[in-house]
Amino acid sequence: MTEEELMLTTILQCDRAQLYTQPLQLTDQQADRLERMRQRRRQNEPLQYILGQAYFFGLTFKVDSRVLIPRPETELLVEHVLEFVLRNHGTDLRILDIGTGSGNIAISLAKSLPSARIMAIDISAEALTLARQNARLNQVAQYIDFAHCDFFEFIEICRVVEKSFDIIVANPPYIAAALLATLPEDVRQEPLLALDGGEDGLKFYRVLIAQARRFLKDKGVLACEIGDGQKESINRLLADNGFGEFYFKNDYRDTPRFFLAQV
Ligand code: GLN
Repeated sequence: MTEEELMLTTILQCDRAQLYTQPLQLTDQQADRLERMRQRRRQNEPLQYILGQAYFFGLTFKVDSRVLIPRPETELLVEHVLEFVLRNHGTDLRILDIGTGSGNIAISLAKSLPSARIMAIDISAEALTLARQNARLNQVAQYIDFAHCDFFEFIEICRVVEKSFDIIVANPPYIAAALLATLPEDVRQEPLLALDGGEDGLKFYRVLIAQARRFLKDKGVLACEIGDGQKESINRLLADNGFGEFYFKNDYRDTPRFFLAQV
């Protein structure tokens, strides 16, 4: 659908075909709303924020400027995790999603793995509010425990969950600080917290890779999305931290975009 069609189907609560099979009649209120949407778009606000929703893994998520918009390539991360589960299926599957944002990864996994117990954490309280709403909207709230903390705090306070997860999944902020200003204008309207990976973009991987083993069961896996050009450095970080078995996967543009590292 074009952006205009997406705005119209959202306002009229109809599908694309109905836009063309019936004469287009907008009430004054609807016409105003359309104009406001166009206006926001002209100011480069991301379309998904304007529509208030985004699609991910066949599900609908509420989104606004409190969260990163779920990206299509991140669906591949969910698929890799599901593949891992198929190959290493155990009972009592426990998953930790770090930096859950809109909840897209945790909620998609909960939908596909109804017997899994998932913990989803985020440093942003307002992102968590939205993630909880999304879990209810997608009928998986009872399978996910949301907690407000960042991974650094988690390490301090969560001794109780040592060696208790089969899977740790994360799409951490991975843009190098100096590149933030060069991002397209609409991306720059997304939360900085969700994008900023520190000086070289690797800040979160250093901690995740160094600490993950403490929270993973034997044969558990750390599965992450990574940024452009980060494969070599992450390869080194994984090897230096004693991960013997790990592999990288590419995205739709054939660029290394994910790794899975097994304890
Ligand atoms: N987990 C969310 C996603 O993958 C948010 C990630 C983030 O905020 N960096 O889209």
